[in-house]
Amino acid sequence: MSGPEILGLSAAAAAAAIADGSLAAGELFELYRGRAASDRAAGDDGLNCFTWVADEGAAGAGGVPVAVKDLFCTKGVPSQSGSRILQGYLPPYTATVVEKLEQAGSGVLAKTNQDEFAMGSSNENSAYGPVRNPWDRGRVPGGSSGGSAAAVAAGLAPWALGTDTGGSIRQPAALCGIVGLKPTYGSLSRYGMIAFASSLDQAGPLTRDVADAALMLGHMIGRDPCDSTSLQMPGPILAPSAESLSGLRLGVPRELTGNGVEQGVLESFRAALATAEQLGAEVRDVELPHAPHALSAYYVLAPAEASSNLARFDGVRYGMRAEDAQDLLEMYTRTRHDGFGPEVKRRIMLGTYALSSGYYDAFYGRAQRVRTKISQDFAAAFEQVDFILTPTAPSVAFKLGEKTGDPLAMYLNDFCTVPMSLAGIPAISIPSGLSGGLPVGLQIAGPAFSENGLLDAAHALELAIGFDSGAARV
Ligand code: GLN
Repeated sequence: MSGPEILGLSAAAAAAAIADGSLAAGELFELYRGRAASDRAAGDDGLNCFTWVADEGAAGAGGVPVAVKDLFCTKGVPSQSGSRILQGYLPPYTATVVEKLEQAGSGVLAKTNQDEFAMGSSNENSAYGPVRNPWDRGRVPGGSSGGSAAAVAAGLAPWALGTDTGGSIRQPAALCGIVGLKPTYGSLSRYGMIAFASSLDQAGPLTRDVADAALMLGHMIGRDPCDSTSLQMPGPILAPSAESLSGLRLGVPRELTGNGVEQGVLESFRAALATAEQLGAEVRDVELPHAPHALSAYYVLAPAEASSNLARFDGVRYGMRAEDAQDLLEMYTRTRHDGFGPEVKRRIMLGTYALSSGYYDAFYGRAQRVRTKISQDFAAAFEQVDFILTPTAPSVAFKLGEKTGDPLAMYLNDFCTVPMSLAGIPAISIPSGLSGGLPVGLQIAGPAFSENGLLDAAHALELAIGFDSGAARV
């Protein structure tokens, strides 16, 4: 097979080609490794997708290589979660999901750039510089899994692993014109993921198409004794095959599909709803009355958990340590002062305040109650419909620097994705088309453990929409 032929293959097709002997796994690895290494070597002239790329001859494990978000611990390989404070940290072990991918034949091709500690929606919070969107290099790829999304969209990796706490797989997938799946909370082990907000963090695939997402998810699921919140899925993940949506009831929540969503995104969303009806689905309105409060609850809960999780980075155990401190306290303080970027500091302060004695119930307790209401909204909606559809993000990819001065505008990116995170339910983003030449994402969410049905519905829509991502390849 020629280079362009190999690059044209989805991960599932490449795996099939390896299995039938028409493609050598080593050749596949080396082709992508070379492409990833050139992006890394290009610095500012490239997309800046990677923080580390495998050495030549690393070959991999006989299957389809995978790019892994920086925050997954990979034994002996830099794992910095996009932060300066973890510079030089080489974990002594590998995250469970990465190990499972390796067991399935996927060698680690590269580590991908991300927002620091997964806090962000534009990848501009990385200590290792912003990632550029392959559709338009003056724009952001979304975040926090921006490096993973841009790498897959640009054809620098066959598929990639990301994490989603409030939207960080789905939103960058939407902005880069690829598929991103946040599975049911607990279905994938969090062991070895550098924690942001543990009750929300979930790993998941970023892929060219829905079949690849199913394949990668299937390799990673399973209860892990090292993560007490992990669960066994009720059954295996199947390859999606549906071509119709007949018999399915799809719900459209007014609360997430009106105000604040850009016109071009809404048009693409409505066209996707029309396609769904043509495929036989019944589309109806549903209510998620508390969904508009999801962002406020999330920006209390996630920083609260982060302030606790990030307390471990004090210069003693991991990565960077401030030099020449006079005493221990000064060493702690200077390490954290120099090691954390501004967004991380903002969240640590917010979270510490929300958890402080006397305020705990007013902020954290109240946000937890909103979270319960949101779960109940979804439970009620799923009595009426099988899946819920919304735009993934309220806008297409925005310009680098456009929102960095306004944290609240940046937080609004997660308006449509955060409710599902708080409820712990699965949601997938697939491209629904272009607006002004830039990709738009369609989000489909379902009840806990509905992954097989969700993937089937996404597959049928993907086929009918026929999105062409070729323009993003480098
Ligand atoms: N953009 C959201 C945040 O900054 C979500 C991040 C994520 O899902 N990791 O918290």
